[in-house]
Amino acid sequence: MKKIWWIMEIKLPQNAELIIDKLRNSGYSCYAVGGCVRDSLRGVKPHDWDFTTSAQPDEIERVFSDYRTITVGKRYGTVAVLIGGELYEITTYRIDGEYSDSRHPDEVRFSDRIQDDLARRDFTVNAMAYNPYDGLIDFYGGAQDLSFGVIRCVGEPRLRFEEDALRILRALRFAAVLGFTIEPETSDAILNQRKLLSGIAYERIREELLKLLCGENAGFILRRYRKVIAVFIPELKGTFDFEQHSEHHNRDLYRHTIAAVNNVEPEPLLRVTMLFHDIGKPLAQTTDKRGVCHYRGHQQLGAAMTREILRRLCMPSVFIDEVCDLIRWHDERFKPETVMLKGYLKRLGADAMQKLMLIQRADILAQSPFKREEKLSNLSAVSEELNRIITSGECYSLRQLAVNGSDLLHIGIGSGVQIGQTLDALLDKVIGGALPNEKESLLSYAKNMIDNID
Ligand code: ATP
Ligand code: MG
Repeated sequence: MKKIWWIMEIKLPQNAELIIDKLRNSGYSCYAVGGCVRDSLRGVKPHDWDFTTSAQPDEIERVFSDYRTITVGKRYGTVAVLIGGELYEITTYRIDGEYSDSRHPDEVRFSDRIQDDLARRDFTVNAMAYNPYDGLIDFYGGAQDLSFGVIRCVGEPRLRFEEDALRILRALRFAAVLGFTIEPETSDAILNQRKLLSGIAYERIREELLKLLCGENAGFILRRYRKVIAVFIPELKGTFDFEQHSEHHNRDLYRHTIAAVNNVEPEPLLRVTMLFHDIGKPLAQTTDKRGVCHYRGHQQLGAAMTREILRRLCMPSVFIDEVCDLIRWHDERFKPETVMLKGYLKRLGADAMQKLMLIQRADILAQSPFKREEKLSNLSAVSEELNRIITSGECYSLRQLAVNGSDLLHIGIGSGVQIGQTLDALLDKVIGGALPNEKESLLSYAKNMIDNID
């Protein structure tokens, strides 16, 4: 074997050792491979363990006949084995054939050599294998690239991206998540061949994009490789180099957007919201006599544009609704006033309001220092009052109202529509302080209302 490094011992979990030993005892070779080796070497606990072996799928099933096995993709050589409640994927060494659709290899051939399997993998840091008997198998300098923090294609980048264009986005994802740089030749190929990404299914793009956005280095990658992102989100192009002509801003719109993305926790909902929060601005721009620009309605417009983008990217509809609501309200001027805030809580719910606080803070911090202290202190006062209302149990929702639909039925309010409208009116009275949240007063007020209508 060409290159075997004994750099460091990887601590394999017991089940991983069992898998490797069982296959070896039956005369096959087997290694932990890919992400788990990469993460172990950089001192991070892998979230799952994948294995590669000289055994063919039927043989893997035979070796693990005492265990439950699930055939994940026999054609691609993968069998999953259930051990101790966990699924482990074991894949036969593979040589991938042509990728005529830039997605799946048209044919795969099984091999009995680990080096063939490592050659088909995307990046050097993902192309290492390990077992306790042979140590680290690293034909492409993955350990060195890992220690220098480099993403580099295995083989010729241009060809590797032609085979599977998703690798273009995967390179950006790993660079963002690991905080790595992309080696120049790989980087050039990413930029030159970015258009190939238009042939990739949106479901595959979605997964990589969400991971990229949650990476510690997402901001840098979004800036450096904006043309790549624009291949599947062309709507972002309008924000590139877009000058905002407002004293509230000292960055162009795309740079402001990236700063805002960086200012929220690495969580898909918040990061996606920040990426699109101002996407409606270029279309909503108006200029007044003094040359100052305004963006009335950019929130609604942005929410509508974002809905279309996220649908295209096959995001789940609950996620889309949540993001679009947050974008719709991201620029709302909240004041630390109890009645006003209870009105918003009624309409949007506590969870969305608390997220809006995080979003507005991130937005303010990505703006110019103009009035920043004022904006931040108002926001803290709003946050504080919101939290007070939420924890105090004061009523702002139908759920908390001291009467419900069946109470109204009892006093003779019959139709569903009327019940809904009456409850809503009662809630507004309670929020406004005109009525206490007590059953008796609410019912007598409701009765009065009905009598007056009749
Ligand atoms: P993560 O920690 O996100 O799971 P990972 O490296 O395990 O990272 P996966 O997408 O789970 O990434 O893929 C497992 C391994 O399969 C990779 O490490 C890589 O070796 C290989 N691989 C995955 N996708 C591709 C691809 N499109 N082209 C080539 N090799 C790939
Ligand atoms: Mg993985």
